[in-house]
Amino acid sequence: MTKLFGTNGIRGEVNKTMTIDLASRLAKSIGTWLGGGTVSIGTDTRLSNQMLKSAVIAGLTATGCDVIDLGEAPTPAIQLYTRENTDLGIGITASHNPPQFNGIKCVDADGTELMKSKEEEIEKIFFDESYKLVDWSEVGRVTKDDSISPYNDAVMDNIDHDKIRKADLKVVVDCANGVGALSTPVILRELGCSVITLNAQPDGTFPGHDSEPTEVNLKDLIEMVKTTGADLGIANDGDADRAIFIDEKGSFMHGDRTLTLVAKRTVKEHGGGIVVTPVSSSSSVKDVVVEEGGELVYTAVGSPIVAREMIKRKAVFGGEENGGLIFSEHQYCRDAAMSAAKIVELIASEGPLSEITSKLPNYSLDKRGFPCPEELKDSMMERLKSHYNEEEYDDTDGLKIYYDEGWVLIRPSGTEPKYRIYSEAKDDMTAQKLGEKHLSEAVDILSNLK
Ligand code: MG
Repeated sequence: MTKLFGTNGIRGEVNKTMTIDLASRLAKSIGTWLGGGTVSIGTDTRLSNQMLKSAVIAGLTATGCDVIDLGEAPTPAIQLYTRENTDLGIGITASHNPPQFNGIKCVDADGTELMKSKEEEIEKIFFDESYKLVDWSEVGRVTKDDSISPYNDAVMDNIDHDKIRKADLKVVVDCANGVGALSTPVILRELGCSVITLNAQPDGTFPGHDSEPTEVNLKDLIEMVKTTGADLGIANDGDADRAIFIDEKGSFMHGDRTLTLVAKRTVKEHGGGIVVTPVSSSSSVKDVVVEEGGELVYTAVGSPIVAREMIKRKAVFGGEENGGLIFSEHQYCRDAAMSAAKIVELIASEGPLSEITSKLPNYSLDKRGFPCPEELKDSMMERLKSHYNEEEYDDTDGLKIYYDEGWVLIRPSGTEPKYRIYSEAKDDMTAQKLGEKHLSEAVDILSNLK
């Protein structure tokens, strides 16, 4: 069976692989699978959103589902609205991908991203074309509602307003012309921060920069933090589920640093507790969690996997190294506005961002990769496991090998015909050496396979 859903729902290029035909057939499959009920639907700011949303609504109502149209909204706002009000949620978004892409993502009734097994049930209906269209009198109705005000209120309910207000902070927010503009700056102003915005007009052509918050894309934000003497800079990705931070000196902070910072703070506040993160995250997360008396649980890569493990283990916090943080007290999904508010609260109580992060353990990460045909990915993994079976390794996701000086993670890419190698150590040189050694070993193993 062809796989329809990838790691982030279904993505594709508009009017090429992501078409209204695909969208309506998928929506008929979703509606048939759900068997009626109410579905909320929201979008990011892409130009193709109305087109795809109309097709999805057509498919859902044809199969008897009522639809609540939330308009443009951050993905975490759609997730919260779904948890509180509907049987399923749908986000029309391609997150950080270029403007010609779009995607469709399903949210379960508990607000988490739909799990694989349920996506497979929907795929089966899709490929069998076993949709069940309803009688004319049972066609679904469409209404509109606002998900953003209740979402913004929910974020603020989890934050210490007085502390932030007293700190009188100046913040620059780069919304990447995405839906974060509807939430992050609004919340920060409400909390008494002085807010300067960049790219805060929703615009699906992404005129400011691409919607992935990389250091290169954030050069204007970095410059603005420096020239205005702001306490920090905040960048959202296109659908505002991830946030990346710039400290008061204008330094770009990798997602691992904020993940470590918030993990430390949360475990300290709870006097212990479980934190969940994928095997690809920096050892700095484990170091601080253990130091504060907590426990770290590793999962496979993917935010829905982290979220579900957090629910299962009653974890206090979790997240990914890409700026996707998940706050148990709020909701079990990545949330940019909540991350922004938490970091602002942390600065208000502990001091400048560069100072508090300088106290965290620091590691160097080396990233490299090599091409590997799809059909060889599985046998390659088997060979790697037998090659490294003398070492201490973890096969939660790919192969993570621990050494005295650090670790190496070798895993197949989920989206490309490629293997990736991540090597972490205390300094750049050691990390690079680990990376070089494992790359050449892996390439040898692959050439023997071919
Ligand atoms: Mg995103």
